Amino acid sequence: MKPLLSLERQLHNLMEWLAHYGADREGGVTRLLYTPAWMKAQHALFERMKDAGLAPYFDDAGNLFGRLEGTERPDETVLTGSHVDTVRSGGLYDGALGIAAGMTALQRLHEQFGKPKRTLEVVSLCEEEGSRFPVTFWGSGNMTGRWSMSRIPDVADDEGVSLAEAMAAAGFGPDTHRPCKRSDLHAYIELHIEQGMVLEKLGLPVGIVQGIVGQVRLTFEVCGETNHAGTTRMGWRRDALAGTAEMTLALEREAVAAGDPFVATVGKLEVAPNVSNVIAGSVLFTVDLRHPDAAALESLSRHIVELFYGIAASRSLRLSHRQWMHAEPVPMDRQLLAELEAICLRKQIGCHPLHSGAGHDAQIMSAVCPAAMLFVPSRAGISHSPLEHTDPADMAAGTEVLMELLYKLAY
Ligand SMILES: [Zn+2]
Repeated sequence: MKPLLSLERQLHNLMEWLAHYGADREGGVTRLLYTPAWMKAQHALFERMKDAGLAPYFDDAGNLFGRLEGTERPDETVLTGSHVDTVRSGGLYDGALGIAAGMTALQRLHEQFGKPKRTLEVVSLCEEEGSRFPVTFWGSGNMTGRWSMSRIPDVADDEGVSLAEAMAAAGFGPDTHRPCKRSDLHAYIELHIEQGMVLEKLGLPVGIVQGIVGQVRLTFEVCGETNHAGTTRMGWRRDALAGTAEMTLALEREAVAAGDPFVATVGKLEVAPNVSNVIAGSVLFTVDLRHPDAAALESLSRHIVELFYGIAASRSLRLSHRQWMHAEPVPMDRQLLAELEAICLRKQIGCHPLHSGAGHDAQIMSAVCPAAMLFVPSRAGISHSPLEHTDPADMAAGTEVLMELLYKLAY
């Protein structure tokens, strides 16, 4: 391994240190919201922010901030960071890198240029993944009004512990720290691993996220006729599973024909009666469709539904469907994107525009302030796994771009 440069070394060390909190047997990290591992990580980050000269504080939800107060416009906050929670046995980089990059950037800017004119804050968001409780974006959602401490959802984890109980046991909840809701945000910039293979394939260190894809999720129910697998001739069958297979392949064909960045997935099948010598009488299956363009997503999803009904009719199957999720695409702020591109050009850091196929806190923040995201490569595109890896040189390149933008916005 070649010797690390100083910014690389600083980031590498911080990432290694943070990975100890919640380190699991699989070599990954498990930091579920309000668990002991999560608490240790947030409190350790609190101390680390203090040591780095970033005045730390918590809000009621457990989001942790490190603050450099602005000298001229203290009430306008430029915020950077990401989420501290992970999936079960997740990787070392998802979320964590955005916090480490933000802390490092603020510390370095402070050392080099002193206090900013606008307030600069780094945030370690308490929750994004929805891994312990069926709430996603609990951290950024409480800051923006999507969630509220006055309406804590009545949900429980696998052990039956409610969200309110878990939060109280961790020392958070209504009126325990500072209020969550923010009205002072001037901009939010998040650095995150790509969780895909585009940057690695291109051999570029930085992705400038143009927007976060819109999503449509549907459940289809195919009804045919259950019958004997041995005595029912092929021409007499109404096989719900064979019909579902045809729909699945048709979906794949349509998605390939529509081309990038459209993606379509059948991820879940429930076959009944699911017996080896019985023709399937019914199948329940899900479809997940994603596209960064709202109109394209709408027309593709309508087309696919029509196609499925055609296939069902040709096989004398009954079909019904339900759309249970529709999230609009979220474009990132045009002006911030232009700034990021200019910074990469000026610093001769290779960058590429891309869309995020996964959800991120930046899409929630964009409801209350201009938001932007930077991606750095994920080795082999792997994420939500202990095998997650990002090269220190790429972490440093992303952090340099982040630092420049924060300088531009706050100094
Ligand atoms: Zn993430």
